[in-house]
Amino acid sequence: ENLLEIKDLHAGVEGKEILKGLSLSVDKGEVHVILGPNGSGKSTLMNIIMGHPKYEVTSGTVSFEGEDITELKTFERARKGLFLSFQTPEEIPGITVENMIRTAKQAVSGERVKIVPFRRQLKATMEELKMKPEYAERYMNVGFSGGEKKRNEILQLLMLNPKLALLDETDSGLDVDAVQIVSEGVAKFHNEDNSCLIITHNTRILEKLKVDKVHVLINGEIVEEGGPELIDDINRRGFTHILDAKAEK
Ligand code: ADP
Ligand code: MG
Ligand code: MG
Repeated sequence: ENLLEIKDLHAGVEGKEILKGLSLSVDKGEVHVILGPNGSGKSTLMNIIMGHPKYEVTSGTVSFEGEDITELKTFERARKGLFLSFQTPEEIPGITVENMIRTAKQAVSGERVKIVPFRRQLKATMEELKMKPEYAERYMNVGFSGGEKKRNEILQLLMLNPKLALLDETDSGLDVDAVQIVSEGVAKFHNEDNSCLIITHNTRILEKLKVDKVHVLINGEIVEEGGPELIDDINRRGFTHILDAKAEK
C-alpha cells in the first residue's frame, strides 16, 4: 500500500534548481534510507515533502495516501500524518517542551489533549529515552546539548506518532550511547502501520531497524536504488564508484 509517492520532482530555492527530476515512493510499513554526499539535496527533499514555504516546486508531484499534497501547507501535511525531525532542531525560548508537544498534538489531532493523561504519557516516554523529567519544564532545546536536542526530537516523534517519519540526520553529532537511544526510539516508533524515511551518514542508527530500501541521492537525482546491502557497499567504497559505474554504462 503506497504511502508517499514523489514523481519527477523539480524543485529548488531562490531560483536555484536543487532537485532535478526526483522520483521515490515509500509503502506503508516500510523503512527507507537516503544516502548521499553533502550538498546533494537531501535536506531540501525532506523540507519539500513537509512543505517548507522557502522551497519552490517547479514541476512534479508529492502524493500522500494517494492524494496530491504538493500545494498543501506544512500544518495541513502534519495533520495528515507527516512529521519531520530537523537536522538542526530549533531553540524556542519561552515555550516548554511539555507545552510545545501538547500544542503540537492538539494541532495535529484537532482535539483537546487532556493534561493528566498527556503528562503521564510524556513522563513514561521520557523515561524510556532516559531523559530527566525536569526537561519537560525547560524551554524547547534552549541550552540543550546536541544529544539532548536529538533525543527531544525522538520524544516528539513518539508522542505525535505520525504515519510517516522523516528523519534528517537525527543521529549526526551524537556519541555512541545517544545514537543507541535514538536508534531504539525510532525502532520503538516503527510498526507495520507507519513508515520511516531516514537520512543518515551513521548507519549505526539502522541497527535496530529492518531497512526495506536504500536510495542514493547525488546532485539532486536518485542515481541508485537497492536493498540494505547498498549501505555496506557505500560504507566500504564511498559514493564515487556509483557515479563511475553510471558513467561507464
Ligand atoms: P544535503 O542535505 O544533501 O547536504 P541540502 O539540501 O542542504 O543538501 O543542499 C543542497 C544544495 O542546495 C546545496 O548546494 C546547498 O548549498 C543548496 N541550498 C540549500 N538551501 C539553500 C538556500 N536557502 N539558498 C541557496 N542554496 C541553498
Ligand atoms: Mg548536509
Ligand atoms: Mg542535509
